Amino acid sequence: MSEAGGERAGDEGSGELVRDLSRFLHGSPTPFHAVEQAASRLLDQGWVELARDAAWSPQQAAGPALVRRGGALVAWGPGDGAPGAPLRLVGAHTDSPGLRLRPRADGSRAGWRTLRVEVYGGALWNSWLDRDLRLAGRLAVVEPDGGVRTVLVDTVEGIARVPQLAIHLDREVNSAGLRLDPQRHLDPVWALERGDGTGVLQYLSELAGVEHSRVLGADVGLVDAQPPALLGAGRDLLASGRLDDLSCVWAGLRCLTATRAAGGPNVPILVCWDHEEVGSETSTGAAGTWLASVLERRAAALGGDRSEFLRSLAASRLVSADVAHAVHPNHVERHDHDHQLRPGGGPAVKHNANARYATDAPGAAGFVAACDAAGVPVQHYSHRNDLPCGSTVGPLVAAGLALDVVGVGPPILSMRSARERVAGGDVTAFVEALTAWTSLP
Ligand code: ZN
Repeated sequence: MSEAGGERAGDEGSGELVRDLSRFLHGSPTPFHAVEQAASRLLDQGWVELARDAAWSPQQAAGPALVRRGGALVAWGPGDGAPGAPLRLVGAHTDSPGLRLRPRADGSRAGWRTLRVEVYGGALWNSWLDRDLRLAGRLAVVEPDGGVRTVLVDTVEGIARVPQLAIHLDREVNSAGLRLDPQRHLDPVWALERGDGTGVLQYLSELAGVEHSRVLGADVGLVDAQPPALLGAGRDLLASGRLDDLSCVWAGLRCLTATRAAGGPNVPILVCWDHEEVGSETSTGAAGTWLASVLERRAAALGGDRSEFLRSLAASRLVSADVAHAVHPNHVERHDHDHQLRPGGGPAVKHNANARYATDAPGAAGFVAACDAAGVPVQHYSHRNDLPCGSTVGPLVAAGLALDVVGVGPPILSMRSARERVAGGDVTAFVEALTAWTSLP
């Protein structure tokens, strides 16, 4: 592993941690699977799941506990049981850009059976061509009594492919550039017209073991089926889909379980939101009210009134954990000269004068101090003035809850590609930095 990861990351060592990250990435093709994996790991380690529609006892609210909703999750470690204790939140998002099945997903053209898809978020379309794509998501099953339950489904292996046009039929592609019309050019092929005619929803219903006629809704997407891989002579470069932002979800998860063992007065909290890639304005997105209501319910169950809850927020902080742009070796000029993020240089604090990132001076100082305490390197990112800067969940939470927020994340290459790259040591260093940050006053 790179020096940034070294063998500092606890007893498992950095190499084993990166393999654990790879398993988490491969097992999380959709936000629903990511939340299922995170919840199941926490439940295995003593967390208790709280029902959204049930009363929470003081013992339950004291934690460790979790509550989930679709592709979103809030989980907290134990604090001292005081409703006004300071909260240390790590927030990340579970969704990634890609292709989602339309309601009428079965298409047919010129001998091929296709999947009708809609583009989700700002994906790099070219990266979806000529890849073996896996279908995954959730099916909504209507029970005989009228109730609705959801089941996860995942083909795991590749089952579809968006074929690129042969160069003999597009002679200018290398000189004029690849042009894709998302309405006409991104539907994957998955069968022959002369096959047995099984529809995609029927196929997925049978795979999930549910009666097709009872599946009346589906949230299903396509993702790269290729498992994550460690590249490079030192195997220190992790290639995978969905590093943005599941690498940060995983880092927050590892931080939460590590801080539970450490104890301390602060309450560590992991927040995973869905729909960051499409603006966050949903019931499970960072612009919604779900986090605030969970936190207030937790404080009330511990015996605190609203005033105590608001006081606890005033002493609370959030790391908005989302990936940053590593400097691209073939396009160095696309990065501000003095803020180029080096692979292996540790997590990056993301700054933006126009508040596209929520970092301010105290927030940055606190995170840098945490990196110093953990003995990991840290970098600073600032975008070019002549290119629009991306954003993330941090500013939404800062505005909604008036929390102190710092935006941080590991630098990656090829953000929003179907397959991104990160130095594994930067993610494990991020876990160490987060763990130190959570316990600082
Ligand atoms: Zn992101």
